[in-house]
Amino acid sequence: MKKIRIGNGFDVHAMAEGLPMWLGGIRIEHNKGFVAHSDGDVLIHALCDALLGALGLGDIGVYFPDNAQVFKGIDSKVLLKRCMKLVHEKGYILGNADCTILAQAPKLRPYIDRMRETLAPILDVAAEDISIKATTTERLGFTGREEGIAVYATALLYLQ
Ligand code: MG
Repeated sequence: MKKIRIGNGFDVHAMAEGLPMWLGGIRIEHNKGFVAHSDGDVLIHALCDALLGALGLGDIGVYFPDNAQVFKGIDSKVLLKRCMKLVHEKGYILGNADCTILAQAPKLRPYIDRMRETLAPILDVAAEDISIKATTTERLGFTGREEGIAVYATALLYLQ
């Protein structure tokens, strides 16, 4: 395999009132949370798919099926750790990752540094190597109507 590999990931979760919101590995204060089999951390799920995609290892559903009881309510940081282990087993390390969150609400800017600091040790990089950006979709589409949140992630891996 080549020395440098790039992968992308995308995920969406629907939101409902009264559920806890976990995003980027941390708890977000909001009146809605994600409807999901796991904790619904859509950013981590997109990141997992970017890591797996870079090495052609399939997708998150292959490793953590959403009908498996063992993954019910699971902390997505555990899933991310396992994906990173697969990356390391192939001899690769993460160079950097870049994520874009599509969310009308809540305002995520105050949380972003803490997300980066939370994810960096799991990914075995410095917080500055994890970029997390948030944008609204100008009230358009399902994200604009606050029915759900979507995340795009890109990860660059290189052979150690
Ligand atoms: Mg998901």
